[in-house]
Amino acid sequence: MTNLQAVLDSIHKELAPRIGEGKVADYIPELAKIDANQFGLSVVTVDGKVYNVGHADVPFSIQSISKVFMLTLALGKVGEGLWKRVGREPSGSAFNSIVQLEQEQGIPRNPFINAGAIAVSDVVMAGHAPREAIGELLRFVRYLADDESVTIDDRVAKSETQTGYRNFALANFMRSYRNLDHPVEHVLGVYFHQCALSMTCEQLAKAGLFLAARGSNPTTGHSVVSPKRARRINALMLTCGHYDGSGDFAYHVGLPGKSGVGGGIFAVAPGIASIAVWSPGLNKVGNSQLGAVALEMLAARTGWSVFGD
Ligand code: GLU
Repeated sequence: MTNLQAVLDSIHKELAPRIGEGKVADYIPELAKIDANQFGLSVVTVDGKVYNVGHADVPFSIQSISKVFMLTLALGKVGEGLWKRVGREPSGSAFNSIVQLEQEQGIPRNPFINAGAIAVSDVVMAGHAPREAIGELLRFVRYLADDESVTIDDRVAKSETQTGYRNFALANFMRSYRNLDHPVEHVLGVYFHQCALSMTCEQLAKAGLFLAARGSNPTTGHSVVSPKRARRINALMLTCGHYDGSGDFAYHVGLPGKSGVGGGIFAVAPGIASIAVWSPGLNKVGNSQLGAVALEMLAARTGWSVFGD
């Protein structure tokens, strides 16, 4: 039996001289202010044990990791009908690419690139005022994490609203193809607030535990989705969770995962554990540089890769 705390401690110790590597996202001014010299890692096993190291208790902007929670909500609302609005194939493009969207007539490749996530937010908004859709997501994430202290950082949401030109372009483009039902400003209001969810590694690992445990949170007993849906969300994370770095992440880490430009990565070892790592410096494709290295070390030392040990 692997001593998980010892594994986490050794990863932290070995990476300590490298903390600060990578480049903090600066296209969202509020994120540019984050100190790069931070590193946190949390593992929650399906039997409810929590293992933390470093800054695992410091809240950070989860950004695109929120797309996993919004996708779960959207599937709960419209089921497989969601796939009329968004595809399920890896994009091989940057997170905010517009080129593919034109070629494919406004249907984004997958729910984890920005265009796809904006379409998913539009689906969750049906029958709601924008504020209620944000409230629904926040309640859902608090319920998943079993933690009422999860918040949305309004400064980050405001900062992105003021500078999210590409996301406005993507959303207007989709609206022109009638793949958004709500006004662009409203949909992006929801999208920017979901991205501004602020969580610690521990909260994030707890919130995603249902994906490691066949759709139910074993610590709270909350049944979130069916085993089949959990398996399918994991499949999407494995193939599409890291933009055009998805293949590389599968090659090196071998776990379903989703990254965000705040420097977080959420990953799932199915049947074993959920994992959250945070280190704000990003690599060239916009994924946490040390976060990806830490997950590669963790997968190698535990044998958790879904492709075998
Ligand atoms: N809010 C960010 C954006 O839309 C999310 C991108 C990310 O985390 O990858 O640009």
